[in-house]
Amino acid sequence: MDLIDSHCHIDVAAFDADRDEVLSRCRQQGIRRLVVPAIDARGWDGLLALCEKEQGLYPALGLHPVFVEQHKAEDVEKLDAKLAATKVIAVGEIGLDFYIKELDRQQQIELFEAQLTIAAKHDLPVILHTRKAHDEVLRSLRKIKVKGGVSHAFNGSQQQAKQYIDIGFKLGFGGTMTYEGSHKIHQLAKALPLESIVLETDAPDMVVASHRGERNSPEYLTESLNALARIRDEDINHIAEQTTANTCEVFGLV
Ligand code: ZN
Repeated sequence: MDLIDSHCHIDVAAFDADRDEVLSRCRQQGIRRLVVPAIDARGWDGLLALCEKEQGLYPALGLHPVFVEQHKAEDVEKLDAKLAATKVIAVGEIGLDFYIKELDRQQQIELFEAQLTIAAKHDLPVILHTRKAHDEVLRSLRKIKVKGGVSHAFNGSQQQAKQYIDIGFKLGFGGTMTYEGSHKIHQLAKALPLESIVLETDAPDMVVASHRGERNSPEYLTESLNALARIRDEDINHIAEQTTANTCEVFGLV
């Protein structure tokens, strides 16, 4: 099997003690490629160095909306300069989080749109973090046109999913599918065209049901693959091939 974790924070400290072992267990299962999105400017250099050193790790750089207050004013300019100087596959993760009430919405929108403009300038797809803000994200995407991307951990409506698909986006599904009670996610994963779905873990967050309470890990991607095959009642090899092809298409991987 040839699988890609389209969203994994393998660079963070939670993997410092056993990153090599985790990656080797991934490879044994056919998970040979991981997309590694950034959280803040402080993490960029470490993330880039790791992706340089390890085969099959693909970096994305960006400023995560949840940390809108910690990002510095000059970080957006730094992002532009960094993208000009390094090879990354996407801008991310970026977006809007209206679930956390304390985060200033206007400040988030400004940060998001500034990064969309940079992504467009560098002709890169984007990795979106969106909670309770799909309509607002779609509004910004209609205003500032980018080269598609992934709406990570998608949890919107089918209508919103269609709007993303229409402008060249894929929708990310992961560990949430492994929980029996996730009816809305199951319905989406069943109803959406397979060509629009990519698999992800978001490790170390959003752990699969069988490891509840533990650190999530990219090696559990196969559990989400199994869940998706079960939900859609389709052949697992077909799902693996198509979701891998989708991830390659959206990030320009070969
Ligand atoms: Zn993430």
